[in-house]
Amino acid sequence: MRDSSKSALIDPWNRTIDYLRIAVTDRCNLRCFYCMPAEGIDYLPKKELLSYEEIIRLIEIFSSLGIKKIRLTGGEPFLRKDFMSLLESIKRITGIEALHITTNGVLTFQHLDQMKAIGIDGVNLSLDSLDKENFHKITRRDEFETVMKTLNGLLERGMNAKINMVVMHGKNTHEVIDMAELAVDKKVSVRFIEEMPFNGSNLSTSKQNWNHTRILSELNSHFGTLQKLNSDPSNPATLYKVPGHIGNLGIIPAYSRTFCGACNRIRLTATGTIKNCLYDEGVLDVKELLRSDRSDEDIRQVLISTVQKREKDGFAAEKNRKLDKSISESMSTIGG
Ligand code: SAM
Repeated sequence: MRDSSKSALIDPWNRTIDYLRIAVTDRCNLRCFYCMPAEGIDYLPKKELLSYEEIIRLIEIFSSLGIKKIRLTGGEPFLRKDFMSLLESIKRITGIEALHITTNGVLTFQHLDQMKAIGIDGVNLSLDSLDKENFHKITRRDEFETVMKTLNGLLERGMNAKINMVVMHGKNTHEVIDMAELAVDKKVSVRFIEEMPFNGSNLSTSKQNWNHTRILSELNSHFGTLQKLNSDPSNPATLYKVPGHIGNLGIIPAYSRTFCGACNRIRLTATGTIKNCLYDEGVLDVKELLRSDRSDEDIRQVLISTVQKREKDGFAAEKNRKLDKSISESMSTIGG
């Protein structure tokens, strides 16, 4: 066995990779317009998804290479059958120190007690509007109250919760301050994310009028200059505090990509493809490897060399796309 405190996953830019994000399904029960088309979605047949056994084997291999943190996302991860059993199995894997989930909160509430008991380390809840009608316009589903119940349930249980709001010009920019005010009396991190063109169609909704600089100036002009917090350099969010507020605020330059220099993450898509970067088109079909007769050690070596192909940043990764030049696939397959 390798010493998992020493990572074997170091890229050509000397970044250590210790964080794996896994899309456990491509299915979703919302239809956020910036992520998925309203109709005509071809979901993957079940056999195209990695089984739980395959996911666990892969995490064990990754863990032996120094991966310490896992995030499960999708699609909507709670749509995957027996999702709680996957969480329990991952929690038992030696070397995995943190298990996080990104969810839209629609099917989450009923699992909160068990999640707390299992020791889930953090939950990112996607919430793009605090207005029921606007929520419906953005998500094309009537689930606002359910999601708010999940948010309150997370907070009541003292669970580590973050809110992710994708900031979209003219769609919810009038709600940025309302959203930030959730942090006044709630122990939550409210994070504002730049919209990216990953929406499952070639039509770009992203006008990038609301980049990280504009989001910050909107917050500054309302609250007075925000206090910048120190945070882990690998955190894509720059964190701020309004003096006196219980929670904090974060801004994620997902499209401007100013954080790539400290990137510590790698992704596994719902189709079993490894992505070195959100913006690349997939660098390894790991499902094929897992379904061949390759040994764990063989797969380890392939993963080590895959990380050697990491580009310097998201711009280089995007430029390098060979098959599909446009970054138009849906985040639900990539795993946002
Ligand atoms: N269903 C879960 C959820 O809603 O949180 C997990 C998957 S979702 C794809 C993960 C995150 O990606 C969400 O916070 C979502 O808002 C974000 N996302 C999806 N498409 C995006 C886009 N085009 N630009 C920025 N963020 C996006």
